[in-house]
Amino acid sequence: MYRRPILAANWKMNKGPSETQDFVKSFIQKSSERFSADIVIAAPFLCLPALSESLREVDGVEMAAQNCSQFDDGAYTGEISVKMLRQVLVRHVIIGHSERRSIFGETNAVINAKMKKAREVGLKLIFCIGETLEERNAGQLEAVLSSQIIEGLAGLTLEDLDHTVIAYEPVWAIGTGVTATAEQAQEAHAYVRSVVASIYGEEAAQKMRIQYGGSVKPNNAAELMACPDIDGALIGGASLDAQSFFDIIKNGVPA
Ligand code: PEP
Repeated sequence: MYRRPILAANWKMNKGPSETQDFVKSFIQKSSERFSADIVIAAPFLCLPALSESLREVDGVEMAAQNCSQFDDGAYTGEISVKMLRQVLVRHVIIGHSERRSIFGETNAVINAKMKKAREVGLKLIFCIGETLEERNAGQLEAVLSSQIIEGLAGLTLEDLDHTVIAYEPVWAIGTGVTATAEQAQEAHAYVRSVVASIYGEEAAQKMRIQYGGSVKPNNAAELMACPDIDGALIGGASLDAQSFFDIIKNGVPA
C-alpha cells in the first residue's frame, strides 16, 4: 500500500522567533518545487506565530507543537492547551517524545491523556515510542514497544488513528550520532505495525505511517527511507539547518 512519506523537523528548545523567520526564508529558497511528502516543522511554542506567518507563502509545510497539556484550561502554570495551539494554526502535535518521558516524567497514561485531548480539537498526532539501550540489551524491545503502543493509544478510535503517525525513536539513537541500522529500524517498524494491526486490524495498520527518528542525517536518509515499513523521519539536530533538512528530504524522498 502506498503511504505518503512524512518528514518532521523537531527543533526542540532551539531557535527563537527571529531564527525561525531566517530558517523559513532559507528553506523556501531551496525548495521551489513541491515535495512528494508531507513536511512538518515542530517549533518551540513561542516561535509558532512567527512560523505561521512565515509559512503563509509556503505550500505544503505544516506546523507542529512539541507538546501540549492534557488539561483544558485553568490553573496549570506554564502549560499550553490544545485550544491555544489551534488558535495559532498548529495542525500537529508531538506527544511522548523520549525527552518528555525521561526528563519530565511523562508516563504512558499521561501521554494517552494528552493524545485524547489533542484529538478533541482535531490536532494530528505524532506519537513517539522507543526503547532505551538497556531495554534493548535486556531483550525487552518488543515488550516496551507494545506497552507504549497499547497504553498510549488506549481509547483512541479508528478515526483518531487515521490522524496519527507513530515515530519509532530508539532512545540510544537520539542526538547521539548513532543511528539504528536500516535492518534494526525495519525490524522494529514491522513489529510496531503488527502491534497496531492487533488492535485496529490489518487495513488500519497498513495505512498507518511510521517515522524513524534517531540521528537521521542527509547521508543516511535514503537507506532508512527505502525500508518497506519506514514512512518518514522525525529529525532533531539535523533539522536545525535549512540546507541539511532540505537534503534529508531530497535524499529520503526522491521526486
Ligand atoms: C528527535 O529529537 O526526535 C531526534 C530524532 O533527534 P536527533 O535527530 O537529533 O537524533
